[in-house]
Amino acid sequence: MADPAQPLPMEPMPHFEQVPHNFRLDQDQQAAYFRNAGYTWREVARLTGFGSESGARAAANRYFASIGQTSGYVASQNLDARRSTRRASAARRRRQQNTAGVFVPNPSNGERTFGAEMEFVGATKSAVQSALQAELFPNDSACRVHITHYHGRSCLTCGNMVEAGEWKVEHDGSVDNGSSPSSIGGEVVSPVLAGEQGIDLIRRACVAMQAAGARVDRRTGLHIHVKFDDLTSAQQGNYIEAFGLRHNTFDALVARSRRTAYYCGRPSSAAFQSMADDARRGTIRSARYQSLNLSAYGRIGTAEVRYHQGTVNPSKVEHWVRLHVALVDSFAAGTEASTVDGHDWIADLAEAGYMPTESAEYLSGRISELAR
Ligand SMILES: [Zn+2]
Repeated sequence: MADPAQPLPMEPMPHFEQVPHNFRLDQDQQAAYFRNAGYTWREVARLTGFGSESGARAAANRYFASIGQTSGYVASQNLDARRSTRRASAARRRRQQNTAGVFVPNPSNGERTFGAEMEFVGATKSAVQSALQAELFPNDSACRVHITHYHGRSCLTCGNMVEAGEWKVEHDGSVDNGSSPSSIGGEVVSPVLAGEQGIDLIRRACVAMQAAGARVDRRTGLHIHVKFDDLTSAQQGNYIEAFGLRHNTFDALVARSRRTAYYCGRPSSAAFQSMADDARRGTIRSARYQSLNLSAYGRIGTAEVRYHQGTVNPSKVEHWVRLHVALVDSFAAGTEASTVDGHDWIADLAEAGYMPTESAEYLSGRISELAR
């Protein structure tokens, strides 16, 4: 029995890497697949169209039995029970401490928009395009997942402009060898997303990328954009300063190789202070290749967090997104920058209502895991 405190193994089942890029999974397979990717049975039932959790569970069981594979399933079958145990113990701990740290309570409904850019290697742009189209737009015969040049606006395969709500597979000079559909590697760029639906789409995109054979290596990164132009100058300054003050926690959440990587370097404390001071005076300024990149702000109004290594693990992406959306939300609500001691501020953020307790627990688990 695995240690219940550890997150589940989220590697794709080897079987699925053999699935051709134009795959259509049948319903049982889908249930098994989503389950293996870490969804609860209720979520699996909803995503696959089964009427009930027990129906989804039976379907996944049928599929696992048919391929003679039980290990991935055995590892995940106690997921729901473990999650609720962890939630309960964390809630008890927070009640005892009766504090949510420096964060003002969340007044909003979590509709701050965000987007993800996921660099990959190991699969052609065309394979990833097909898998994403099949997963995210299954009943749509029009091209909704486009292949473009770097930051391109029109599709190299269908010729149309990229519209709101559509996805892109972009050329990315740091990980691939060309922009053509047959070249290997690139960057999946989500549209502007929001809320639980947005998280769900990102998770499904990760699963589809895995099915297409997409992998990550040291060259790849995960970049998160968070809406930032609704904050006042003072709030923007507070956020930037707070990001710098919390950098030790971000360091603890990413691979060691990331902390010194050229494309996402960690600015000095003095640099964060100076960026924060500039923001308070109304000037958003930053270098592009650093952990917090504000150079897209003038164009699309977002703060971009570039620090995380590449991943197509749905849970890693989900909780990193939730963390950064939550942090911006808390400063938009009037939290002020402050000194930070340790990593407990993540639990405080959840306690103040900016993200699920489950996310804070997942991230704490990652910190322990990466510290080994
Ligand atoms: Zn297209």
